[in-house]
Amino acid sequence: MTTVGDCIAKGEALLPVNEIRRIAEELLDLAAGELAHHASRDVYPSTEDRFFNLVERRVAGEPLAYLLNQWSFWNVDLIVSSDVLIPRPETEHLVEAVLPVVDQDSTILDLGTGSGAIAIAIALETHAMVHAADISIDALAIAKQNARRHGLDIRLICSNWFDAIAQKYDVIVSNPPYVESNSRFLDSGDLRFEPAIALESGPDGLDALRHIIAHASTYLVDGGHLVVEHGYRQSKSVRELFRSNGFALIQTTNDLSDKPRVTQGSWFD
Ligand code: GLN
Repeated sequence: MTTVGDCIAKGEALLPVNEIRRIAEELLDLAAGELAHHASRDVYPSTEDRFFNLVERRVAGEPLAYLLNQWSFWNVDLIVSSDVLIPRPETEHLVEAVLPVVDQDSTILDLGTGSGAIAIAIALETHAMVHAADISIDALAIAKQNARRHGLDIRLICSNWFDAIAQKYDVIVSNPPYVESNSRFLDSGDLRFEPAIALESGPDGLDALRHIIAHASTYLVDGGHLVVEHGYRQSKSVRELFRSNGFALIQTTNDLSDKPRVTQGSWFD
């Protein structure tokens, strides 16, 4: 019979070793680091088939997150599927920007929640009341599973941006789509497999941000905050949108690659 070690050795010829280990751990239901103790274990032919099927799909470019149906964000394990964007490390800066301005009495809206990553990280950190909206029913189903998995009571709202939002919040946070619709990045890497609705936003990538920044003040309390992620070449335009829509105390923070990635502003009635 084939052993775990045989599968891994064959897989390593096709994919980076860390990816092969993640796939094997997932199929064998092992925690990270346990694989070494199981190298001589036999695998059933059906498991071996599943293993090489995942390896082949990864070789063909499918994101590891979708193959494993899970990904980590902040310190939270999340279920993901091709109905939602894969949570990215740069989006953790959105959470970092929100935490200093909220406490457990705050109300927060995550607009375009996808997997629920931002809403869940903030809810776990703050115990604040978090609502999460998305236009996609399929994304909301994933967000619901994730919230439940972490024991959180997050209200999920099916809404095209603010259309179904019926109250004011202390903080509105969003990682909207912001890629230019003709961007060559849409045809490369993981983005090819991700939902276009979560990535593309018109010729300059700013359609969603323009809409959100223009309407947010209606849904913010006096002294409330809007915090958004954007492309690294969009910070000037985004700051100008905050300014022209009456926001104050506008600040942009850089991501780990030192690129402007998150802009926030405060609203005063
Ligand atoms: N940061 C993503 C990328 O360029 C885009 C995510 C988004 O549009 N919100 O890969």
